[in-house]
Amino acid sequence: MQLADASLGTLIEKWERFFYDYCKEEIDSAALMYPEKKSLILDYWAIDTHDAEMAEFLLEKPYISIYAAESALKKIDMPVDPSPQLHFRVKNLPEIQKIGIRDLRSQHLGKFIAVDGLVKKVTEVRPKLEDAAFQCLRCGAIIHEPQEGNILKEPLECYEDQGGCGRRTSFRLLTEESKFIDSQKIEVQENPEELRGGAQPLRLTIYLEDDLVGNIVPGDRVTVNGILHGQQRRRGMIKLTEFNKVMDASTVEQKEQAFEEVQITEEDERKIIELSKDPLIYNKIRDSIAPTIYGLDKEKDALALQLFGGVAKHMPDGTRIRGDIHILLVGDPGTAKSQLLRYISLLAPRSIYTSGKSSSAAGLTASAVRSDEFGEGRWTLEAGALVLADLGVACVDELDKMDSKDRAALHQAMEQQEISVAKAGINATLKSRCSLLGAANPKFGRFDEFASISDQINMPPALLSRFDLIFPVTDRPDRARDTNLAKHILAVHTVGERMEQEGHAGGLHSDELEKIVKPSIEPEFLRKYIAYAKRSIFPVMSEEASERLKNYYVEVRAAARDSVPFTPRQLEAFVRIAEASARIRLSEVVGIEDVERAIEIVDYYLEKVGVDRETGALDIDIITTGISHSQKDKMKILTTIIKNICEDKEYASMDDIKEKAEEEGLDEETVKNMMSKMIRGGIIFEPRRGGYRLTS
Ligand code: ADP
Ligand code: MG
Repeated sequence: MQLADASLGTLIEKWERFFYDYCKEEIDSAALMYPEKKSLILDYWAIDTHDAEMAEFLLEKPYISIYAAESALKKIDMPVDPSPQLHFRVKNLPEIQKIGIRDLRSQHLGKFIAVDGLVKKVTEVRPKLEDAAFQCLRCGAIIHEPQEGNILKEPLECYEDQGGCGRRTSFRLLTEESKFIDSQKIEVQENPEELRGGAQPLRLTIYLEDDLVGNIVPGDRVTVNGILHGQQRRRGMIKLTEFNKVMDASTVEQKEQAFEEVQITEEDERKIIELSKDPLIYNKIRDSIAPTIYGLDKEKDALALQLFGGVAKHMPDGTRIRGDIHILLVGDPGTAKSQLLRYISLLAPRSIYTSGKSSSAAGLTASAVRSDEFGEGRWTLEAGALVLADLGVACVDELDKMDSKDRAALHQAMEQQEISVAKAGINATLKSRCSLLGAANPKFGRFDEFASISDQINMPPALLSRFDLIFPVTDRPDRARDTNLAKHILAVHTVGERMEQEGHAGGLHSDELEKIVKPSIEPEFLRKYIAYAKRSIFPVMSEEASERLKNYYVEVRAAARDSVPFTPRQLEAFVRIAEASARIRLSEVVGIEDVERAIEIVDYYLEKVGVDRETGALDIDIITTGISHSQKDKMKILTTIIKNICEDKEYASMDDIKEKAEEEGLDEETVKNMMSKMIRGGIIFEPRRGGYRLTS
């Protein structure tokens, strides 16, 4: 290549000519906007069109090219005086420069490349020395030493050419005379959809400077164009020959459109529209979700709806109503809950699988810490699962085991779908516009259908009421079901065994059995279908559908005698689910059939966990407060009893309470049960063992 032999002077001249010929207007407008704009940002292809050789040289030798280009910028006449020093930045690199974080190798060091990923961490913005001014402690001269890298570089001697005494001596750093530049460090990890088979994502550290800082938050999907370089590793004072890979960013492109990462061709689109007209579309999608898992049809129906989601609405007053559907599976061990979550996380675009008890510092929401290695003493903001799954599905296993910090932040994350962090140098709002698919195990091992759900799982009722749907998954011996389940699981294993055997013998073979595990819609295609529906279909509810839903809501509430069967929150759940149902068949209109589907599925869930087992009435309080209407009545009776006893005595003893309660028709078991709930709820307290008083 001719340019490779050119001198630096020639290179600078070439860039100067290039700028005068093709970029003068852009340079002038950047200069006029200075310091709001500090860079001349060129599209790679704009350089390539005019001078392919220079463009190619830029990719091969970016440091020298950018140095030359910035030196050339210094020489250009600008309409402001003095001319500001503009950075030279390049965006939209050719596709072949795009390297997966996993595939970065030493051959890429020093090259201009592009990396796609998900921002996991950002540090606070800190000033970094760019040009250090030192004062010689012997002669007092002020010496400048340009800085690069992370380690402070001191002058070797008091340079004579800078007017110093020429001696090797000690210096004092003068911060007020030095020049600083804003700097920030971010960590980008591989996009989850590029990971196969649950591999841990690899990460890359990237440095941002000056006008690039402060624009990126954890959870952003980005393409970073920059130069990969090695960073010296040390063990104590010893320098190692092994280097870390880090990147200096030139430009950071943020993904604008939802699901840009899912490529849909015209051919795909044609097939998607065709499939959407299939009258069996709902069954086909349901049966394509984890086909190796037997049964759980209603749960799979719900998961299908969750994958598509309702419509998020942005109101003129600035509020936002979520469209995402949150689902919780609670149930017996070994009922394929974890398996389902894993499957969904592989299927859904932009999804994350994690466990509530995972040890990651960021947990489920976000964390701001100062102590970690990455930040090197700066505050670091790190995204947790619900932020990383923005616009996708966060699959959180063992949700009941999350730590208390997450528990508090989860409300906001689920309802407002953002997480605010305000701590020292960090003040950010992270987006968590995802649907949450949680799984939890009952506290006492097995799920008891006759006890209320909030007594059985280690999660506060306020959090439970944020879920649109909660499904208990139980495992009771049942001859007919057990037979089918056993048949299914054994068939799955046989198919697997056969495929292994024949696979090893070379060549696969298909037959009846394989139909069992073959989804009717291939996961790859289903993912495209979902992405297509989510980014292009925004259905609106029809007049009749709206009327039907309103009547249902009003009628069911009116028919309830003592309890409240559901609240406006469930009404919103109906709407979201009905919208998702319309989206599945790519309909722009939410019709009666969608509302019916929503009613059916919400009813199914409420029948399972929202019924007062004593009275058989639908009672949403069981979920939202953990106390049914009939229990509340009993508590009132007990409260009155304790109050009356305490008018004469200092406290009410258990025996006295039991005696009076029996007269009111409450047995011992019930009394004990209610009393412990009342203690937990802070209604009564126990000032002395076996003695009780009302709290107020
Ligand atoms: P959980 O998380 O509910 O405790 P897992 O997802 O770990 O349960 O499932 C345990 C095992 O049992 C898995 O290998 C799963 O495939 C199998 N299994 C459980 N229920 C079913 C089912 N209905 N159909 C097929 N396999 C099942
Ligand atoms: Mg599990």
